[in-house]
Amino acid sequence: MSSSCIFCKIARKEIDTAVIYEDELTIAFADIAPQAPTHILVIPKKHLEHIKDIKKDLSNALFSAINVVSQNMDGYRLVMNFGKDAGQAVPHLHFHVMSGRKMNWPPG
Ligand code: AMP
Repeated sequence: MSSSCIFCKIARKEIDTAVIYEDELTIAFADIAPQAPTHILVIPKKHLEHIKDIKKDLSNALFSAINVVSQNMDGYRLVMNFGKDAGQAVPHLHFHVMSGRKMNWPPG
């Protein structure tokens, strides 16, 4: 865990956040600046920055969490921004699950 990381603070429940799902390894919560009617972030509780650092148990848990939070959606977009070119703002690995509106392709 990183003491200054905003998502670590959310994982530690130090910040008031709308938690949608959690298990031992992951937590899912509402994005503070939603880009779709439903915009959920799914993160590992442990501070990881790079997808290459995910072990199998954690990747299973993350995709299970994505399946749980998206189970009643008609469709959704799953986004992971990594690095400057992708516009990543928070350097704690996270997946955006967005739904409730028509999405465009290609994304901006
Ligand atoms: P990214 O550009 O992929 O790093 O996206 C980071 C996301 O985290 C953005 O969609 C932000 O709106 C969201 N975010 C930042 N701080 C918070 C917070 N305290 N609670 C919920 N979502 C947050």
